[in-house]
Amino acid sequence: MKLTVLGYYGGYPTPLAGTTGFLLTAGDYHLLLDCGSGVLKVLEQYLDPLRLDAAILTHYHHDHIADVGVLQYYWQLRQGERQEPELPIYGHTEDPLNFASLTWAGATEGRSYDPEATLNLGPLTITFQRTIHPVPTFAMRIVDDRGKVLVFTADTRYFPELADFARDADLLITDTNFDHTKTGKLWHMTAAQSGKLAEQAGAKRVLLSHLPQQIDHQQLLKEATEQVTGRPIVCAQTGMSFEI
Ligand SMILES: [Zn+2]
Ligand SMILES: [Zn+2]
Repeated sequence: MKLTVLGYYGGYPTPLAGTTGFLLTAGDYHLLLDCGSGVLKVLEQYLDPLRLDAAILTHYHHDHIADVGVLQYYWQLRQGERQEPELPIYGHTEDPLNFASLTWAGATEGRSYDPEATLNLGPLTITFQRTIHPVPTFAMRIVDDRGKVLVFTADTRYFPELADFARDADLLITDTNFDHTKTGKLWHMTAAQSGKLAEQAGAKRVLLSHLPQQIDHQQLLKEATEQVTGRPIVCAQTGMSFEI
């Protein structure tokens, strides 16, 4: 499968890049993973949004769902051109109002995922891990039909069970929002925690995402790299892609 970074900031976009969103392609199946601010316009550079087979959301913070509304309008206004009647958007149901907003009549259909169960989407098999974050949030482990594994931590503070969930991932995407100077209660990981998680999990490659606007990303890369032995780590950039 192939992962393309569509947006990678936490919180809010900058003039140069948007917030969280990834395009995951497996064969001819196209899944949008989170849909943050600025994600739709970047997606349009890589894939006609009408060719998406589904979207899936880790949680309902704005930096992960800001472009859901315009994606719905895209599907509504380009009605004549689409092959599928509606785009399925998968989300959890622990926040009923936000879940209900995933349905836009005639354009998109909200579908629930059960975090305790396995979700099969095309050639992809997805399992979930509840994270530690101010609102219900689910990390995802996505396995394709060749057995390749992508793990996305979603938004979370560090906790040891994440390493089991991310075990032997071919690519691990981590929520990396702080450097070593951050103290107090955390709702995201520091760069060092991302590196530690990758090392504990035995992840083959690591992508640092959910990056901050006001910390040098090279500094984050350095702090994460200090925690690992021989695992390639990169900071996310728009358009960066990975063959998994
Ligand atoms: Zn976020
Ligand atoms: Zn969040």
